[in-house]
Amino acid sequence: MPGSFLETPIEFLKGVGPPRADFIKKELNIYTFGELLSLFPFRYIDRSRIFLIAEIQEDVAYVQLKGKISHMQSVGTPGNKRLIATLADKTGEIDMVWFQGAKWIADKITPGIDYIVFGKPTWFNGRLNIAHPELETPDENNPAVNDFFRPIYPSTEKLKAKGLNSRGISKLIKTLIQSDRFFISENLSEPILHNLKLINRQEAFLHIHFPSSQEHLKKAQIRLKFEELFFIQLRLLKHKYSRTQKQSGNKFPRVGEYLNQFYYHYLSFELTTAQKKVIKEIRVDLGSGKQMNRLLQGDVGSGKTLVALMTMLIALDNNFQACLMAPTEILANQHFQNISRMIEGLEIKIDILTGSTKAARRKQIAQGLENGSLQILIGTHALIEQNVQFKNLGFVVIDEQHRFGVAQRARMWEKNVIPPHVLVMTATPIPRTLSMTLYGDLDTSVIDEMPPGRKPVITKHAFESKQLQVFDFIRKQIKEGRQVYFVYPLIKESETLDLKNLTEGYEMIRLAFPAPQYSVSMVHGKMKQKEKDAEMERFLKKETQILVATTVIEVGVDIPNASVMVIENAERFGLSQLHQLRGRVGRGSDQSYCILMTGFKMTSDAKKRIETMVSTTDGFLIAETDLQLRGPGDLEGTQQSGILNLKIADIIKDEKTLKLARNMAADIIHDDPELVRKENSPLLRYLKILDRYKENWGLIS
Ligand code: ADP
Ligand code: MG
Repeated sequence: MPGSFLETPIEFLKGVGPPRADFIKKELNIYTFGELLSLFPFRYIDRSRIFLIAEIQEDVAYVQLKGKISHMQSVGTPGNKRLIATLADKTGEIDMVWFQGAKWIADKITPGIDYIVFGKPTWFNGRLNIAHPELETPDENNPAVNDFFRPIYPSTEKLKAKGLNSRGISKLIKTLIQSDRFFISENLSEPILHNLKLINRQEAFLHIHFPSSQEHLKKAQIRLKFEELFFIQLRLLKHKYSRTQKQSGNKFPRVGEYLNQFYYHYLSFELTTAQKKVIKEIRVDLGSGKQMNRLLQGDVGSGKTLVALMTMLIALDNNFQACLMAPTEILANQHFQNISRMIEGLEIKIDILTGSTKAARRKQIAQGLENGSLQILIGTHALIEQNVQFKNLGFVVIDEQHRFGVAQRARMWEKNVIPPHVLVMTATPIPRTLSMTLYGDLDTSVIDEMPPGRKPVITKHAFESKQLQVFDFIRKQIKEGRQVYFVYPLIKESETLDLKNLTEGYEMIRLAFPAPQYSVSMVHGKMKQKEKDAEMERFLKKETQILVATTVIEVGVDIPNASVMVIENAERFGLSQLHQLRGRVGRGSDQSYCILMTGFKMTSDAKKRIETMVSTTDGFLIAETDLQLRGPGDLEGTQQSGILNLKIADIIKDEKTLKLARNMAADIIHDDPELVRKENSPLLRYLKILDRYKENWGLIS
């Protein structure tokens, strides 16, 4: 609907000329009326409630206060200045502190007049204070301000400096809503609105910005959250439908020599029940004539790669090629070596392609791929480059999906006329709510069982002061023939500092574990590949008993004899990283240990992370906790996917709504997959608008 109200460029809004429009575009990423209207308040102040300073409790969240500024003072050293202003009402005093923009604020403040202050009070040195409060003079006649539920919009110092504080934004939205052309067409169908008793879209926008009561606000939120989650699901399920119903897939009817040989003569152990179940699920997909798109979840070491390999062999048995894409070169190399070893003697042509593959080798590989003689290709994202062309690619494995963008996944499809079957493997368990949204169009398989004989890793927390005891324990383990990892954090912003930590740690460990009795190797990201490989090799061959490393070993190395993982500064790691690191041990039959070393100073989140690690090895439980601690926006891999840029819904808090949206969307796609029924026309129309707007969503499938 070009020219529609919602798609009108922001510069056409009264009071917003081209320069201001440019500023809004740049700072808020808002280009149209519709986008401005979708900038939702993140909080509302109940203006009917003004707290007295004496009422403030220790654990109160945000409060609104009213009082006069009694005095103001700039303290601190140059470069580290802050402004303190004291607000007083008839019951007490509270300090307001600004660490930034102090001068600007100081100029604005007039002592002796009334202010309305909004912020989160905390106790500091026995005094109440509020850092960076919102501050304004009471202005009962301001037309943009609702007296009871005042919307608060996200703003920044930069925006505020241009008059776009929360109130400024509110005024813009008010102008928009009061315009003669203000009209928002419905995007949900009549039956949905009716069955779920939702208010219509135009009303919802009105009430979300200017609620006249708590009840109106609630209804607007319910409606808009549902809408947001519903269209994500509808879109995913519609894509899934087109893929499975319209798009044909290669049929792999045969189980032939390769798989049979491998299964009966090469495999030295029984498959676990979970592996058998997953292989069955995959075989059903491969025989269906539809393209498979399956997510395989399972903890590190649960045997996913083996399942992938067996599926590759089925592809080969049906005269197709297969490839496996890994997120890092180390991991690609390891897959290549493992898989080559496992199929040695089967006369399968397998090769590896990464960023560091030399031109001459590349040429050979390209030839082999195009004439079909090369059957399995392992690699990094080098595989998705345009010039990598297969003769007949039938099956793609993507390992550790969360490191690839969804767009990259989509590109694998184009490698064959009939898109290859895709198996996405991830060792990072994904909570159900999240996977419903991130991978809502994929079928899911789970390996929820470890190969027999594995003992769960014993995890202990130790403060740094206990280092000597930890070393004693390690000496005992080494005496029993085990090997040990020491991992140090490496976080980009402080790379040099971390490198110093690592090398100091290495020296310290060498002192504690002196030659010739002990030998220690070290691996970190700054080393040349050759050096890294050589050091790893020494550890692998048991020439060294201790490997000091950064998180480069997080995904990758598989050394069953290593039974102790010591994580230094464990408080600096995220939960999923800790879980991945712990997965490096416990791969053999010996009892393994993970020791989380921390300082005494820990944030409450860090404490919770350590407690979680100590109390469970269940990857799904850990993932749930991670999601709760960090929120979905911060979860590894979700940022680049873009799909979780939710404007109003919250995947954790709105889990019920999410499930409702999912079920509703599934019912609709089931009854009317093409959305051709008249009642569903608003849905189809809106999906088309989304297609234009959020092109990246389309890449999810
Ligand atoms: P993942 O890919 O899930 O991390 P792998 O497939 O690499 O796990 O398997 C980890 C290790 O366990 C490998 O050495 C593999 O050979 C072994 N393994 C896999 N399945 C079984 C099984 N059913 N019984 C015993 N060992 C197994
Ligand atoms: Mg693996």
